[in-house]
Amino acid sequence: MYNVRINLEYCKGCGLCVGVCAKHGLYISDKLSPLGIRPAAVRPEVQCTQCRNCCTICPDAAIEIVVKPQVHGETSLAMLSEREKP
Ligand code: SF4
Ligand code: SF4
Repeated sequence: MYNVRINLEYCKGCGLCVGVCAKHGLYISDKLSPLGIRPAAVRPEVQCTQCRNCCTICPDAAIEIVVKPQVHGETSLAMLSEREKP
């Protein structure tokens, strides 16, 4: 899974990224950024595919895609129980 981050110091709210996300994961916020503009924002439920269309089209390099750490809860538990076997 991926986290999509908008750098509010760079985003100028042009909206180009919104139109290229096939997952409809981006929108223009109603809230003003520190620059006094309405910036792009990320829907929390977005199923980002890391296509990077948004990064490519952004003229201000304001979008970063970050890989979320994987959670291997079931695997870890299985390994633990293996280790605990007498
Ligand atoms: S990387 Fe692709 S799927 Fe993810 S937010 Fe950007 S355009 Fe959407
Ligand atoms: S394309 Fe870049 S500058 Fe334009 S709204 Fe999206 S993140 Fe902001």
